[in-house]
Amino acid sequence: MRYDDSSPPPESGPSANPDRHWFTRRSTLVVGIAALAPACLAGWVLTQALSGAGSDESRPRPAPQPAGHATVSPGQRDAKPGSTPSDSPGTPAAAPLPAPAKGPLTGKTVVVDPGHNTGNFQHTDEIDQQVDIGTNRKECDTTGTTTNSGYMEAEFTMDVSKRLRTALEAQGAKVVLTHETGARAWGPCITERARIGNDAKADAVVSVHADGVSSGSRGFHVILPAKVRSGAADTAKIVEPSRELGERIAGNFARTTGSEPANYLGGGTGLVVRDDLGGLNLSTRPKVFIECGNMRDAKDAAKLTSPEWRQKAAQGIADGIVGFLGG
Ligand SMILES: [Zn+2]
Repeated sequence: MRYDDSSPPPESGPSANPDRHWFTRRSTLVVGIAALAPACLAGWVLTQALSGAGSDESRPRPAPQPAGHATVSPGQRDAKPGSTPSDSPGTPAAAPLPAPAKGPLTGKTVVVDPGHNTGNFQHTDEIDQQVDIGTNRKECDTTGTTTNSGYMEAEFTMDVSKRLRTALEAQGAKVVLTHETGARAWGPCITERARIGNDAKADAVVSVHADGVSSGSRGFHVILPAKVRSGAADTAKIVEPSRELGERIAGNFARTTGSEPANYLGGGTGLVVRDDLGGLNLSTRPKVFIECGNMRDAKDAAKLTSPEWRQKAAQGIADGIVGFLGG
Protein backbone atom coordinates (compact mmCIF):
# COMPACT_ATOMS: atom_id res chain seq x y z
CA MET A 1 0.00 0.00 0.00
CA ARG A 2 1.15 3.49 -0.59
CA TYR A 3 1.07 4.36 3.06
CA ASP A 4 3.73 1.75 3.76
CA ASP A 5 6.38 4.04 4.82
CA SER A 6 4.12 6.89 5.73
CA SER A 7 3.90 8.14 9.25
CA PRO A 8 1.39 8.00 10.63
CA PRO A 9 -0.82 5.73 8.53
CA PRO A 10 -4.35 6.93 8.01
CA GLU A 11 -6.63 6.12 10.91
CA SER A 12 -9.79 6.32 8.90
CA GLY A 13 -10.89 5.84 5.35
CA PRO A 14 -10.74 2.87 3.08
CA SER A 15 -7.31 1.67 3.93
CA ALA A 16 -7.74 1.76 7.69
CA ASN A 17 -10.05 -1.18 8.13
CA PRO A 18 -8.66 -3.86 5.85
CA ASP A 19 -6.39 -5.41 8.37
CA ARG A 20 -9.17 -5.78 10.93
CA HIS A 21 -11.50 -7.36 8.39
CA TRP A 22 -8.74 -9.46 7.11
CA PHE A 23 -8.00 -10.77 10.56
CA THR A 24 -11.48 -12.16 10.99
CA ARG A 25 -11.74 -13.55 7.53
CA ARG A 26 -8.44 -15.24 7.78
CA SER A 27 -9.06 -16.70 11.17
CA THR A 28 -8.51 -20.25 9.97
CA LEU A 29 -5.18 -19.29 8.52
CA VAL A 30 -4.31 -17.50 11.69
CA VAL A 31 -5.03 -20.65 13.66
CA GLY A 32 -2.71 -22.53 11.34
CA ILE A 33 -0.03 -19.95 11.68
CA ALA A 34 -0.53 -19.85 15.42
CA ALA A 35 0.10 -23.56 15.56
CA LEU A 36 3.44 -23.08 13.86
CA ALA A 37 4.31 -19.87 15.65
CA PRO A 38 5.79 -21.26 18.89
CA ALA A 39 8.49 -23.21 17.12
CA CYS A 40 9.32 -20.36 14.76
CA LEU A 41 9.23 -17.82 17.53
CA ALA A 42 11.42 -19.94 19.74
CA GLY A 43 13.99 -20.17 16.99
CA TRP A 44 13.79 -16.48 16.34
CA VAL A 45 14.12 -15.57 19.99
CA LEU A 46 17.09 -17.87 20.29
CA THR A 47 18.70 -16.26 17.28
CA GLN A 48 18.08 -12.81 18.67
CA ALA A 49 19.44 -13.78 22.06
CA LEU A 50 22.55 -15.29 20.57
CA SER A 51 23.20 -12.27 18.41
CA GLY A 52 22.66 -9.99 21.39
CA ALA A 53 20.95 -7.68 18.99
CA GLY A 54 17.52 -7.34 20.47
CA SER A 55 15.51 -4.97 18.37
CA ASP A 56 18.40 -2.84 17.24
CA GLU A 57 17.75 -2.12 13.58
CA SER A 58 21.21 -0.77 12.98
CA ARG A 59 22.87 -4.14 12.87
CA PRO A 60 23.40 -5.99 9.62
CA ARG A 61 20.84 -8.73 9.44
CA PRO A 62 20.82 -10.42 6.06
CA ALA A 63 17.68 -12.26 5.14
CA PRO A 64 18.02 -16.01 5.22
CA GLN A 65 17.37 -17.78 1.99
CA PRO A 66 17.57 -21.12 0.34
CA ALA A 67 20.70 -22.27 -1.40
CA GLY A 68 21.10 -20.89 -4.85
CA HIS A 69 20.01 -17.38 -3.98
CA ALA A 70 22.84 -15.79 -2.07
CA THR A 71 22.12 -12.50 -0.35
CA VAL A 72 25.71 -11.45 -0.77
CA SER A 73 28.06 -12.97 -3.27
CA PRO A 74 31.45 -14.14 -2.06
CA GLY A 75 33.21 -11.23 -3.73
CA GLN A 76 30.82 -8.69 -2.30
CA ARG A 77 30.94 -10.33 1.09
CA ASP A 78 34.68 -9.79 1.19
CA ALA A 79 34.26 -6.19 0.27
CA LYS A 80 31.41 -5.48 2.62
CA PRO A 81 32.34 -3.14 5.44
CA GLY A 82 30.96 -3.58 8.87
CA SER A 83 30.16 -7.23 8.47
CA THR A 84 29.46 -9.18 11.59
CA PRO A 85 30.78 -12.67 12.24
CA SER A 86 27.33 -14.04 11.51
CA ASP A 87 27.19 -12.80 7.96
CA SER A 88 30.73 -12.87 6.80
CA PRO A 89 33.36 -15.28 5.71
CA GLY A 90 34.07 -18.39 7.47
CA THR A 91 31.13 -19.96 5.82
CA PRO A 92 32.55 -22.18 3.17
CA ALA A 93 31.31 -21.92 -0.34
CA ALA A 94 28.39 -24.06 0.64
CA ALA A 95 26.06 -25.47 -1.94
CA PRO A 96 27.28 -24.94 -5.48
CA LEU A 97 25.18 -22.45 -7.34
CA PRO A 98 23.54 -23.60 -10.53
CA ALA A 99 25.27 -22.26 -13.61
CA PRO A 100 23.76 -18.84 -14.19
CA ALA A 101 22.03 -18.17 -17.46
CA LYS A 102 23.84 -15.97 -19.94
CA GLY A 103 21.92 -12.95 -21.08
CA PRO A 104 21.68 -9.19 -21.19
CA LEU A 105 21.83 -9.01 -17.40
CA THR A 106 24.93 -11.16 -17.00
CA GLY A 107 27.17 -9.48 -14.43
CA LYS A 108 24.33 -7.35 -13.08
CA THR A 109 22.87 -7.53 -9.60
CA VAL A 110 19.21 -6.77 -8.99
CA VAL A 111 17.68 -6.56 -5.53
CA VAL A 112 13.96 -7.29 -5.34
CA ASP A 113 12.10 -6.21 -2.21
CA PRO A 114 8.79 -7.97 -1.51
CA GLY A 115 6.83 -5.32 0.39
CA HIS A 116 5.71 -6.12 3.96
CA ASN A 117 5.69 -9.61 5.50
CA THR A 118 2.74 -11.93 6.12
CA GLY A 119 3.86 -12.20 9.76
CA ASN A 120 3.90 -8.46 10.43
CA PHE A 121 0.37 -8.36 11.83
CA GLN A 122 1.42 -10.73 14.59
CA HIS A 123 4.41 -8.57 15.49
CA THR A 124 2.98 -5.10 15.74
CA ASP A 125 5.25 -4.11 18.63
CA GLU A 126 8.32 -4.94 16.58
CA ILE A 127 7.21 -3.34 13.34
CA ASP A 128 5.93 -0.24 15.13
CA GLN A 129 9.41 0.55 16.43
CA GLN A 130 10.62 3.84 15.07
CA VAL A 131 13.61 3.82 12.77
CA ASP A 132 15.69 6.68 11.42
CA ILE A 133 15.22 7.27 7.69
CA GLY A 134 17.41 10.34 7.58
CA THR A 135 14.66 12.84 6.96
CA ASN A 136 12.64 11.72 9.98
CA ARG A 137 11.66 8.68 12.01
CA LYS A 138 9.05 6.15 10.96
CA GLU A 139 7.70 2.71 11.70
CA CYS A 140 10.11 -0.14 11.02
CA ASP A 141 7.57 -1.78 8.70
CA THR A 142 3.82 -1.99 8.15
CA THR A 143 1.29 -4.77 7.65
CA GLY A 144 0.21 -3.78 4.16
CA THR A 145 -3.31 -4.05 2.82
CA THR A 146 -5.56 -6.88 1.56
CA THR A 147 -8.22 -7.46 -1.04
CA ASN A 148 -11.81 -7.55 0.17
CA SER A 149 -11.62 -11.33 0.05
CA GLY A 150 -8.55 -11.38 2.29
CA TYR A 151 -5.66 -11.88 -0.13
CA MET A 152 -2.77 -10.18 1.60
CA GLU A 153 -0.57 -7.60 -0.06
CA ALA A 154 2.39 -9.41 1.53
CA GLU A 155 1.38 -12.63 -0.24
CA PHE A 156 1.04 -10.77 -3.52
CA THR A 157 4.39 -9.02 -3.23
CA MET A 158 6.24 -12.24 -2.44
CA ASP A 159 4.62 -14.09 -5.33
CA VAL A 160 5.42 -11.37 -7.85
CA SER A 161 8.94 -11.00 -6.46
CA LYS A 162 9.69 -14.69 -6.92
CA ARG A 163 8.33 -14.63 -10.45
CA LEU A 164 10.45 -11.55 -11.07
CA ARG A 165 13.52 -13.29 -9.71
CA THR A 166 12.99 -16.20 -12.08
CA ALA A 167 12.55 -13.86 -15.04
CA LEU A 168 15.66 -11.86 -14.19
CA GLU A 169 17.82 -14.91 -13.57
CA ALA A 170 16.80 -16.19 -16.97
CA GLN A 171 18.37 -13.02 -18.36
CA GLY A 172 21.60 -13.69 -16.50
CA ALA A 173 21.13 -11.45 -13.47
CA LYS A 174 22.20 -12.20 -9.93
CA VAL A 175 19.05 -11.58 -7.90
CA VAL A 176 18.77 -10.91 -4.19
CA LEU A 177 15.43 -10.86 -2.36
CA THR A 178 15.31 -8.80 0.82
CA HIS A 179 13.42 -11.63 2.53
CA GLU A 180 12.02 -15.04 1.73
CA THR A 181 8.73 -16.77 2.51
CA GLY A 182 8.65 -17.80 6.15
CA ALA A 183 12.34 -17.11 6.69
CA ARG A 184 11.65 -14.44 9.23
CA ALA A 185 8.70 -13.70 11.49
CA TRP A 186 8.40 -10.03 10.56
CA GLY A 187 10.07 -7.25 8.61
CA PRO A 188 12.75 -6.49 7.56
CA CYS A 189 12.58 -2.88 8.69
CA ILE A 190 12.57 -0.35 5.88
CA THR A 191 16.09 0.67 6.88
CA GLU A 192 17.35 -2.86 6.41
CA ARG A 193 15.49 -3.26 3.13
CA ALA A 194 17.40 -0.26 1.85
CA ARG A 195 20.68 -1.49 3.27
CA ILE A 196 20.41 -4.86 1.54
CA GLY A 197 20.30 -3.12 -1.84
CA ASN A 198 23.19 -0.86 -0.88
CA ASP A 199 25.36 -3.67 0.46
CA ALA A 200 24.72 -5.79 -2.63
CA LYS A 201 25.85 -2.84 -4.75
CA ALA A 202 22.74 -3.47 -6.77
CA ASP A 203 22.53 -2.13 -10.29
CA ALA A 204 18.79 -1.76 -9.78
CA VAL A 205 16.39 -2.23 -6.88
CA VAL A 206 12.62 -2.67 -7.07
CA SER A 207 10.25 -2.76 -4.12
CA VAL A 208 7.02 -4.55 -5.01
CA HIS A 209 3.68 -3.40 -3.54
CA ALA A 210 -0.02 -3.07 -4.18
CA ASP A 211 -2.08 -0.16 -2.97
CA GLY A 212 -5.01 -0.03 -0.56
CA VAL A 213 -7.18 2.95 -1.42
CA SER A 214 -10.87 3.47 -2.11
CA SER A 215 -12.83 1.45 -4.64
CA GLY A 216 -12.88 3.11 -8.04
CA SER A 217 -9.24 4.12 -7.72
CA ARG A 218 -7.51 1.87 -10.19
CA GLY A 219 -4.28 1.27 -12.03
CA PHE A 220 -0.59 1.06 -11.25
CA HIS A 221 2.03 3.62 -10.39
CA VAL A 222 5.77 3.65 -9.92
CA ILE A 223 7.21 5.69 -7.06
CA LEU A 224 10.45 7.55 -7.70
CA PRO A 225 12.80 8.99 -5.06
CA ALA A 226 12.72 12.75 -4.53
CA LYS A 227 15.96 14.61 -4.01
CA VAL A 228 16.52 14.60 -0.28
CA ARG A 229 19.56 15.20 1.86
CA SER A 230 19.25 14.84 5.58
CA GLY A 231 21.00 12.61 8.06
CA ALA A 232 21.72 9.27 6.41
CA ALA A 233 19.49 10.14 3.46
CA ASP A 234 21.13 11.52 0.33
CA THR A 235 19.44 10.65 -2.93
CA ALA A 236 21.21 13.16 -5.18
CA LYS A 237 23.02 10.45 -7.12
CA ILE A 238 20.05 8.14 -7.59
CA VAL A 239 17.27 10.53 -8.54
CA GLU A 240 18.08 10.57 -12.24
CA PRO A 241 18.82 6.87 -12.82
CA SER A 242 15.87 5.91 -10.64
CA ARG A 243 13.58 7.96 -12.85
CA GLU A 244 14.86 6.18 -15.92
CA LEU A 245 14.41 2.84 -14.20
CA GLY A 246 10.88 3.82 -13.17
CA GLU A 247 9.90 5.01 -16.64
CA ARG A 248 11.17 1.79 -18.18
CA ILE A 249 9.26 -0.30 -15.68
CA ALA A 250 6.05 1.72 -16.04
CA GLY A 251 6.09 1.45 -19.82
CA ASN A 252 6.77 -2.26 -19.87
CA PHE A 253 4.34 -2.98 -17.04
CA ALA A 254 1.54 -1.27 -18.96
CA ARG A 255 2.42 -3.23 -22.07
CA THR A 256 2.59 -6.70 -20.53
CA THR A 257 -0.37 -6.36 -18.14
CA GLY A 258 -2.67 -4.13 -20.14
CA SER A 259 -3.20 -2.10 -16.97
CA GLU A 260 -3.59 1.65 -17.09
CA PRO A 261 -1.55 4.14 -15.09
CA ALA A 262 -3.30 5.03 -11.84
CA ASN A 263 -6.40 7.20 -12.20
CA TYR A 264 -6.07 8.69 -8.71
CA LEU A 265 -2.57 10.17 -8.65
CA GLY A 266 0.35 10.90 -10.92
CA GLY A 267 -1.73 12.78 -13.48
CA GLY A 268 -2.08 9.71 -15.66
CA THR A 269 1.66 9.21 -16.01
CA GLY A 270 1.92 6.21 -13.69
CA LEU A 271 4.82 7.98 -12.00
CA VAL A 272 4.88 9.64 -8.58
CA VAL A 273 7.80 11.24 -6.74
CA ARG A 274 7.92 10.88 -2.96
CA ASP A 275 10.28 12.10 -0.28
CA ASP A 276 8.81 10.22 2.68
CA LEU A 277 9.76 6.61 1.98
CA GLY A 278 12.68 5.28 3.98
CA GLY A 279 13.27 2.55 1.42
CA LEU A 280 13.99 5.22 -1.18
CA ASN A 281 15.57 7.93 0.98
CA LEU A 282 18.20 5.56 2.33
CA SER A 283 19.02 3.90 -0.98
CA THR A 284 22.34 4.61 -2.64
CA ARG A 285 21.41 2.47 -5.65
CA PRO A 286 18.86 3.22 -8.41
CA LYS A 287 15.56 2.21 -6.85
CA VAL A 288 11.82 2.48 -7.33
CA PHE A 289 8.65 1.15 -5.73
CA ILE A 290 5.83 -0.19 -7.88
CA GLU A 291 2.24 -0.21 -6.69
CA CYS A 292 0.84 -2.80 -9.08
CA GLY A 293 -2.83 -1.98 -8.54
CA ASN A 294 -5.43 -1.21 -5.88
CA MET A 295 -6.31 -4.24 -3.79
CA ARG A 296 -9.46 -2.53 -2.48
CA ASP A 297 -10.95 -2.14 -5.95
CA ALA A 298 -12.80 -5.18 -7.27
CA LYS A 299 -11.59 -4.80 -10.87
CA ASP A 300 -7.97 -4.37 -9.87
CA ALA A 301 -8.28 -7.15 -7.27
CA ALA A 302 -9.44 -9.56 -9.97
CA LYS A 303 -6.11 -8.97 -11.69
CA LEU A 304 -3.96 -9.02 -8.57
CA THR A 305 -5.41 -12.36 -7.46
CA SER A 306 -4.76 -13.99 -10.84
CA PRO A 307 -1.52 -16.00 -11.09
CA GLU A 308 -1.51 -15.43 -14.85
CA TRP A 309 -1.74 -11.67 -14.36
CA ARG A 310 0.98 -11.72 -11.72
CA GLN A 311 3.25 -13.46 -14.20
CA LYS A 312 2.60 -10.67 -16.70
CA ALA A 313 3.30 -8.14 -13.97
CA ALA A 314 6.61 -9.75 -13.12
CA GLN A 315 7.54 -9.94 -16.81
CA GLY A 316 6.77 -6.26 -17.29
CA ILE A 317 8.96 -5.28 -14.36
CA ALA A 318 11.74 -7.56 -15.61
CA ASP A 319 11.54 -6.11 -19.10
CA GLY A 320 11.82 -2.63 -17.64
CA ILE A 321 14.93 -3.61 -15.71
CA VAL A 322 16.47 -5.20 -18.82
CA GLY A 323 15.82 -1.98 -20.71
CA PHE A 324 17.31 0.13 -17.93
CA LEU A 325 20.42 -1.98 -17.62
CA GLY A 326 21.12 -1.78 -21.30
CA GLY A 327 19.85 -5.14 -22.47
ZN1 LIG B 1 2.75 -1.79 0.45
